[in-house]
Amino acid sequence: MSADAASPLSQAAGNLVVDLGLSLSYRHGFGDLSPFFKALLEGRALASRCPACGDVRYPPRLVCPRDGTATQWQALSGEGSLTAFTIGRCRLPLGQDERDHIFGEVAMDGASNRVFARIAAAAEQLQPGVRVRLAPPAAPPPPHPIQALIFIPI
Ligand SMILES: [Zn+2]
Repeated sequence: MSADAASPLSQAAGNLVVDLGLSLSYRHGFGDLSPFFKALLEGRALASRCPACGDVRYPPRLVCPRDGTATQWQALSGEGSLTAFTIGRCRLPLGQDERDHIFGEVAMDGASNRVFARIAAAAEQLQPGVRVRLAPPAAPPPPHPIQALIFIPI
């Protein structure tokens, strides 16, 4: 058997190969983290707080990473300070086009950790220490709720 230019079959190192596409569509549930995603789509910051040690995480954890205690919800102001940022060209998951994005690390007011997120601003506006807040809800909403995790300068 031989493979011509119009055939999907080809030879690679003497072995017959074929390029196949795979598409998978399914419904993804957010379970007990749904309140976080709903709040994010509304432009609100909902963190987790450990009732045992007081650790506050954003994004939230259902169980405290320090002591394993089940956490509770705690609203944050949605404001914080940019600690670092970088610019990268990429296509976001479920996105259509590749373009430049600014990604940053934010120390949110009231949180014990830092959050990695997109920053919607001109790079010239940014430097470590700049105050930022969660962006208001986008219309239409992003293809995945976590893509609403965007900060803007205050
Ligand atoms: Zn704890």
